[in-house]
Amino acid sequence: MRATRRRDTAAEIDVRKHLTRDGLRYRVDVPPLPGTRWRADIVFTRARVAVFVDGCFWHGCPDHGTWPAAHASWWRTKILRNRERDLHSTQVLVDAGWQVMRFWEHDSAEEVAGMIAKAVRGIPRD
Ligand SMILES: [Zn+2]
Repeated sequence: MRATRRRDTAAEIDVRKHLTRDGLRYRVDVPPLPGTRWRADIVFTRARVAVFVDGCFWHGCPDHGTWPAAHASWWRTKILRNRERDLHSTQVLVDAGWQVMRFWEHDSAEEVAGMIAKAVRGIPRD
C-alpha cells in the first residue's frame, strides 16, 4: 500500500471539474500554511478555504469504512492515526483563520462543489 495521501482520486477530480466549470481557480494538493508539511486537496489561498476530500477507507468513513481482518490492529492504528491527523490539521487551520471543509469521497461532487463555491464567494452556508 502506498502513502495515505493520494492525490487525484476520482472523487477529487469530479469535484474539481465542477469547480472549474463554475469559474473558480484553486490550487491542488498543496500545504495551505507555510511551514507545514501536510497538504489539503483543494486550496483557495486568497479566500482562505481549505478542502479535504477524505477517502472512505483511509479516513474511516462511518458508512463505508471497513476494518480489514488481516493485520487488523495495524490497520486500526493507521486509520485512527489518520483521523487524529485530520482533526489536528483542521484545528491548526481554523486557528490560523481558515475555513476548513471536509467531505467524504462518497459525497455528491456536484453538491460538494456547490458548497465550496458558496464558501469561497463568501455566501454563508445554511
Ligand atoms: Zn463513505
